[in-house]
Amino acid sequence: SFHKSKGQHILKNPLLVDSIVQKAGIKSTDVILEIGPGTGNLTKKLLEAGKEVIAVELDSRMVLELQRRFQGTPFSNRLRVIQGDVLKTELPRFDICVANIPYQISSPLTFKLLFHPTSFRCAVIMYQREFAMRLVAQPGDNLYCRLSVNTQLYARVSHLLKVGKNNFRPPPKVDSSVVRIEPRKPQPQVNKKEWDGFLRVCFIRKNKTLGSIFRQKSVLSMLEKNYKTLQAVLASLQNNGQAAPNTAMDLGDQSMGIEDDDNALDDDDDDMEMDEGDGGEASEFKEKVMNVLKEGAFEEKRSSKLSQQEFLYLLSLFNKSGIHFS
Ligand code: SAM
Repeated sequence: SFHKSKGQHILKNPLLVDSIVQKAGIKSTDVILEIGPGTGNLTKKLLEAGKEVIAVELDSRMVLELQRRFQGTPFSNRLRVIQGDVLKTELPRFDICVANIPYQISSPLTFKLLFHPTSFRCAVIMYQREFAMRLVAQPGDNLYCRLSVNTQLYARVSHLLKVGKNNFRPPPKVDSSVVRIEPRKPQPQVNKKEWDGFLRVCFIRKNKTLGSIFRQKSVLSMLEKNYKTLQAVLASLQNNGQAAPNTAMDLGDQSMGIEDDDNALDDDDDDMEMDEGDGGEASEFKEKVMNVLKEGAFEEKRSSKLSQQEFLYLLSLFNKSGIHFS
């Protein structure tokens, strides 16, 4: 019996398994990381194609079944099974990751791979269709969201294969897609927390203008707090005769924020806007923020249509003015 809670949907179409392995472009020298091997239908083809498979599986019954399947075959000494939750496991070095994953770990797993300390060629992963389309979405596409921008900063992503639910046993409720993720080399030189905090603000409402988002009281007060903390740190460093740091500092204790974007499908752009009254000190900082938006002509722009380069540029303008998001 399969565990729905563990996302156990076994690939039963051998042609599809062949096609995934073929599209992955595995070399005979490759160390392959597989996540959630289950009963091993994909594992077997991976063992045929590569040098070694390291498989991480949560369910001990599946681990046993997997070991039994390859025991006494020439494959057994080229397969290493790690029992555990992939999100809590320190991953070994690998060349390529191929996986039919449980969909509930899609987002944290994707970022775990993207931030993996040793470089790898690519990951070929089965996702729920909509998640896959969000990963590959471009500015202006309906599903373009924080996840798209965030992922595409660190990797090139492409849609490889549409997969209907009936290729699995038991069939899941949703259709699936196989996506290829190729980490960019070199990796972009951004402060991850800063970038993530910035995108969170920009995508509070992806179809609202940035001008109206950055006029929100909650946004301004968060930014002003960061700003004042940084100014205080800089002042105290100067008093101590030390050189001021020239990189963004981590002043907050926010999470990396890599969970799903709640607002991804929110197309609603017409909610009433509370325009805050302009009062003294607050409006001075607001002015500073608005000047940054004006400098780059971003006031009337909307996140749903901005490219990654535009986001990076806007963040650099904010940082140049001493405004930080983490
Ligand atoms: N790869 C197999 C196939 O294609 O037939 C099975 C795929 S099934 C969708 C997902 C597998 O991931 C299950 O075997 C499940 O036990 C395992 N799994 C679920 N959560 C996991 C986790 N956090 N870490 C590692 N494996 C997990």
